Amino acid sequence: MTHASPMPASAAAETAHILSRLGVDPAILSGGTLVARSPITGEETARLVEISADDAKVAIDKAHQAYLTWRKVPAPRRGELIRLLGEELRAAKAELGRLVTLEAGKVTSEGLGEVQEMIDICDYAVGLSRQLFGLTIATERAEHRMMETWHPLGVVGVISAFNFPVAVWSWNAALAIVCGDAVVWKPSEKTPLTAIAVQALFERAAARFGAEAPAGLSTLLIGGREIGEVLVDHPRVPLVSATGSTAMGRKVGPKLAARFARAVLELGGNNAAIIAPTADLDLTLRGVAFSAMGTAGQRCTTLRRLFVHESVYDAFLPRLKAAYASVTVGDPRRDGVLVGPLIDQAAYAAMETALADAKAAGGVVSGGDRVSVDPADQAYYVRPALVEMGEQADVVLRETFAPILYVMKYKTFEEAVILQNDAPQGLSSSIFTNDMREAERFVSDEGSDCGIANVNLGPSGAEIGGAFGGEKETGGGREAGSDAWKAYMRRATNTLNYGRTLPLAQGVKFDV
Ligand code: NAD
Repeated sequence: MTHASPMPASAAAETAHILSRLGVDPAILSGGTLVARSPITGEETARLVEISADDAKVAIDKAHQAYLTWRKVPAPRRGELIRLLGEELRAAKAELGRLVTLEAGKVTSEGLGEVQEMIDICDYAVGLSRQLFGLTIATERAEHRMMETWHPLGVVGVISAFNFPVAVWSWNAALAIVCGDAVVWKPSEKTPLTAIAVQALFERAAARFGAEAPAGLSTLLIGGREIGEVLVDHPRVPLVSATGSTAMGRKVGPKLAARFARAVLELGGNNAAIIAPTADLDLTLRGVAFSAMGTAGQRCTTLRRLFVHESVYDAFLPRLKAAYASVTVGDPRRDGVLVGPLIDQAAYAAMETALADAKAAGGVVSGGDRVSVDPADQAYYVRPALVEMGEQADVVLRETFAPILYVMKYKTFEEAVILQNDAPQGLSSSIFTNDMREAERFVSDEGSDCGIANVNLGPSGAEIGGAFGGEKETGGGREAGSDAWKAYMRRATNTLNYGRTLPLAQGVKFDV
C-alpha cells in the first residue's frame, strides 16, 4: 500500500447530522439488519429496518390507489408538485450533495452535480407537464376525427444502482409524477440513506402542495434484491425502470417480459474512445483522464477502453501515464482529490481479479495498487490502473466497475470502429479527431453502435435534456429528456364519428 494524507471528521457523525437536518427521524437509523457504511472510512453509518416482502406488496397496492387519485389531477397542476420538489432540492443541495459524497464516496463537485441533475430534471418536468400531447391524424373515414391521447400508466417501479444514488430516482420520478403515475423506489442496498433523505424532501414538497397529493404517491422500499424482485413481479406495476449491472438486467428483463410489463433498463457500459491521428492531444488528454479516472471508474459511462492510432501512440501514452501518476487519490471531501474510494471490498476484489486476468492475457499494468488513507483501514482506495494490451482480450470486453483503462493500438479507422463496437454493453463512445469525415462517419449509421456517440469529448456523463443511456445490449432503454416521457404513459387512439352513417367494409351487409 502507498500512503495518502489523513482524514477529516467521522463520516458516521456527519451523516447522522445531515439526515436530521433534512427531517429524517434519527430513530430509524438503528435497530435493523441492513448495515449502511460510508466507503470513505468503511465505518458503519446506520442499521436500517428492511421491509418484508408482504409489506412491500401492501405498499405497492397503496401506491396503486394513489395513482387512481393522482391521474385525475390536471397535468400542469401535477407539475406544480415537481416545481416544489425542485425548490426543496435547491434549498437542500449542499447537504444532500454532501450526503452523496459520504454514502457513495463521490468527490464534492460530483455529489453536488448529482443533486443539480435532480433540480434540472424537475425544471424539465415542470415544462413537460404542459406538453404531454398527441397527434391528430388524418383519417380515411368520412366525417370522422382520429387522435392520439396519452394517459397515465399506473405505478412506476424504480430500482437504482449505488453509483447514482439520487439522480436516477429523479430522472424517473419527476417524469412519472407529471405523467400522472405513482412511484415506488427500491434503492441500492449500498446507498439507502441518500434515498431516505430524498423521500423526506419529497414529503416536504407534498405537504406544501396540499391534500391533492395522495399518500403513497412516492414510496420507498428499503431492502435488498429480493425486494426488487417483489417490485418486478407485482402485477400492479406496469413499468419497471431498473438501473444496474447487466447481470441484474438479465434477471429483471425476462420476468417483466413474461407478464408483458414494460422495462426501461439502464445497465452496464464498457465504453471506448478512439484517438485519431489528427486529434488535439492536449484536449484529448484532459478528456481521457477525466472520463477514465473520475468517480474512481464507477460510472456507467466511465472510459474503459482506449484505441490509439499507431502514429500518435508514442507521443500520447507517456503523457497519459504521467497524468495517471500525478492524480490525487484520497478522501473525496478534500479539495483537489479526483479519485475517491471504491464502494466496498467486493469492488476491490473484482478489480484485482481483472488486473490478474489482464496480466495473464499479456497486458502490462501500471498503477492499480491499493492506497492507504488513515485511519480508514476498512475503506478501499486504489490508484487508477492503465493496462497496455496487445489485443482486445476477454477481460477487456467485460465491465469491471473500477478505474481500469485498457489501451490498444490501431491502424485504420475501420478497424478502430470494429474494435469499439465489439463490446456487447455498448453504452457510450467517443472519438477524438479533427478530420471532419472521420467525425461524421463515427456518428453515422456505420459508425459507433452505442446509445451515446461523442466527438472531441470523453464518453462519461450525459445531459438530461438529451435523454440518458441507451445501452445497445438492452435495446436502448432511456430515462430523462427527449421523448423518454412516453414510456411513463400509455397511448390510446380515439376515433370520433360526427356523421350520420357508419361506413362498413365493401360488400358487408346486415339487417338492423
Ligand atoms: P447491481 O446490479 O448490483 O444493483 C442494482 C440494483 O438492482 C440494486 O438496487 C439491487 O438491489 C437491484 N437488484 C439486483 N438484482 C436484482 C434482481 N434480480 N431483481 C430486482 N432487483 C435486483 O448494480 P450496482 O453495483 O449497484 O451498480 C453498478 C452497475 O450499474 C454497473 O454495471 C453500472 O454500469 C450500472 N449503471 C448503469 C447506469 C445507466 O444509466 N446505464 C447508471 C448507473 C449504473
